[in-house]
Amino acid sequence: MEHVQWGGPDTVVVCGGGLAGLTAAVTAQEQGARVLLLEKAPQAGGTTVLSGGLLWTLARYEEARSKIPFGDAALQWLVYDSIDDARAWLRSLGAKMGPVEEPVLGHGRGQTVDPVEMIQLLHERFLARGGTVLLNTALASLDMSAGVVTGVQALTEGRLVTVRACAVVMATGGFQGNPELLLRYIVRPENLVLRANRWSTGDGFLAATSVGAAASPGLDTFYGHALAAGAKYGKAQLRDISQYHGRLSVAINLLGERFTDETEETGDEALNQHLARQPQGRGFYIVDESAMEQVAIQGREAITRTILRRAVAAGGTVIEADTLEDLCAALSAHGVPPSRALATLRDYNAHIESGQADALVPSRVLNRVPLAQPPYRAVMVQAAITFTMGGLLIDERTRVLWRAGTSSTFAAVPVERAYIETDGPAVSVGEDFRQMPIRGLYAAGNDAGNISNFGYMGGLASALTTGRMAGSEAGRMAVAARASQPAV
Ligand SMILES: Cc1cc2nc3c(=O)[nH]c(=O)nc-3n(C[C@H](O)[C@H](O)[C@H](O)COP(=O)(O)OP(=O)(O)OC[C@H]3O[C@@H](n4cnc5c(N)ncnc54)[C@H](O)[C@@H]3O)c2cc1C
Repeated sequence: MEHVQWGGPDTVVVCGGGLAGLTAAVTAQEQGARVLLLEKAPQAGGTTVLSGGLLWTLARYEEARSKIPFGDAALQWLVYDSIDDARAWLRSLGAKMGPVEEPVLGHGRGQTVDPVEMIQLLHERFLARGGTVLLNTALASLDMSAGVVTGVQALTEGRLVTVRACAVVMATGGFQGNPELLLRYIVRPENLVLRANRWSTGDGFLAATSVGAAASPGLDTFYGHALAAGAKYGKAQLRDISQYHGRLSVAINLLGERFTDETEETGDEALNQHLARQPQGRGFYIVDESAMEQVAIQGREAITRTILRRAVAAGGTVIEADTLEDLCAALSAHGVPPSRALATLRDYNAHIESGQADALVPSRVLNRVPLAQPPYRAVMVQAAITFTMGGLLIDERTRVLWRAGTSSTFAAVPVERAYIETDGPAVSVGEDFRQMPIRGLYAAGNDAGNISNFGYMGGLASALTTGRMAGSEAGRMAVAARASQPAV
């Protein structure tokens, strides 16, 4: 295999050309850095260009803490606090945004942007400033010397390339495309379909953790929406066949049982995570006529009737019947025991109609309405994954941290207690070691773990704000590295 070398000791290397990576790349250039961007796919854009372009996050920071309590408070603050500045920055580059801040899902606020135009714009700005984009070029591993990042190894068209750098930004988009990692951390991959680009296979996560980086909490959580099972679609139709109306429905699995509160947490993505853990990751969302004109996802204004019509048009399974008995009888053709399904729906209705909703198991906190207005409709749904919420453990400056126990090897700080100490007071494992940043390593976007954690606070907003921070940090490091080089 031919071996070539690019970059230099004052170069920033950004791995991944989605919103997080391109934002980091342009921001590092603004600091004065020389930047090289590696993109595994034949084109930049990743999952970002498949998105709805709603740049939103929670309207109040307190909501992030109460709805996503296991997410990292400092990272959630970073997203919440810097989203307005980050959007202003995008506008200053020429991005066109919707004029008003729309309410989203009842607890968010956001503005729309055309995601394809946004990526093109960032790409053009990056090239115009002298940046280099290497397409079909995949980060393979990190190079380190004495605990400091010195560059990456990348694969491009059969060649192994060494790219020297003083700072590396991981923005490879998460590990949802990697069946082995899904099995290790989340669920049998057979239970999920991919609702994302197919290039994000955890390369940033694997490269960084294999040199000692820490994995974040929330590795078993992910964002996505259930899709119409059996539908035929291209990547441009992912939104069209997303079944956003789960929280308006009664959701049952293939055993005919309700399996969670359909209205839990920040929205439909919680239901989708529970669905993934049901047999085959499949089930049915059942609605009556009263739900058909309701807005299923605020900010997108898609009503249930349109969503179901699109599911049918794409070849999905939507059953319609005038009675719950007939609906459940029809479900048997799809492997659902009709008597069990009917008992589930009757039990649900009985609790709601008798004012005993608090006694429902599983519970139902919101949308406490019975299935009472025929016709009834059931759409077969399949759990889907858009991105993994867990990833690399970073601090509020997006610096990737050493795994506990590794930091003492390289970080020049005293470690207060030895791991094997047995005669001191009992301490938790987390208290035992300080987790220090790995010099020169940053993560942004879906590679930055534990911003969202089961609950969701906006993928584009997270990518944009962490991209800004990572680019700014990496860029400053590169400028300092250049200044410290001996003059020739
Ligand atoms: C249908 C749909 C609708 C959505 N709608 C919204 C919405 O309206 N609002 C919202 O906030 N979020 C939305 N999202 C989520 C949002 O798109 C993502 O959270 C966001 O785009 C992630 O950005 P990123 O830069 O981290 O990842 P990506 O955009 O996926 O970029 C990662 C890039 O890294 C590249 N890569 C992977 N491995 C390597 C490697 N080894 N070396 C180099 N490059 C590599 C990939 O090819 C890819 O280009 C939606 C997603 C989907 C699928």
